[in-house]
Amino acid sequence: MTRTGRSVLVTGGNRGIGLAIAQDLAARGDRVAVTYRTAAPPPGLYGVACDITEPDAVARLFEKVTVEQGPVEVLVANAGIVRDALLLSMTDQDVDEVLDTNLRAVIRVVKHASRQMLAERWGRLILVSSSAAFTGSPGQTNYAAAKAGLVGLARSLAWELGPRGITVNVVSPGLIDTDMTRDLSKARREQFLSRTPLGRPGRAEEVAAAVRFLASAEAGYLTGAVLPVSGGLGMGI
Ligand code: NDP
Repeated sequence: MTRTGRSVLVTGGNRGIGLAIAQDLAARGDRVAVTYRTAAPPPGLYGVACDITEPDAVARLFEKVTVEQGPVEVLVANAGIVRDALLLSMTDQDVDEVLDTNLRAVIRVVKHASRQMLAERWGRLILVSSSAAFTGSPGQTNYAAAKAGLVGLARSLAWELGPRGITVNVVSPGLIDTDMTRDLSKARREQFLSRTPLGRPGRAEEVAAAVRFLASAEAGYLTGAVLPVSGGLGMGI
């Protein structure tokens, strides 16, 4: 069944990759809610202030989105942070914050969305991981561990929800130009690009195009997949 005007939720949809995804889906007729903490999203998106590491705030988020635009049919778990340091210099707080935001909170959000999708017997769950999960990345042990965890989460959930018409997939971006990567040192940036066959960073809109496909009716036979949007960085891993 082709669905129009779907109820979409994008976490961290007020800027960067999340905003590009939210605007792309909204431009194609979906009703799109986004979470934000620091700054509200631009007009055309339903913004809900929510820190996804707070369980009560996430419960309220789903209540608000349901009232505003109906039960969530497409979830894009995009919000994420970095706290980079070599492991021996990494604090417990660096580890906890990254695991809380990039893994535990995703499980929480996915659980709420799954419950709504099960009732509808249709849904698209899309998790934003990272090529770091596959290639490894010095200085990002916390981040890579959390992002690799999303793959296990997606693939286990694909088994649980597949019989109910719900797909669970992962996008795995390489180096994308956003606030997150703006302060990378020149050397680090060149290191990434030297391992990227296309030889340039990606644009948030290019990640959005992959998410649009995974969210579409045409992707109905795709689940448990990891779709790299990385210019070839880490291909074949
Ligand atoms: P940005 O730093 O530009 O944006 C991060 C987004 O996550 C913001 O919207 C931010 O909200 C939100 N966020 C962070 N923590 C929380 C929280 N606790 N609760 C709610 N929202 C939160 O990052 P990108 O757009 O670059 O990254 C988006 C996703 O893509 C992340 O998961 C990232 O790990 C992943 N990714 C990015 C790559 C890149 O090269 N840029 C490469 C591979 C993966 P707020 O504005 O309120 O802070």
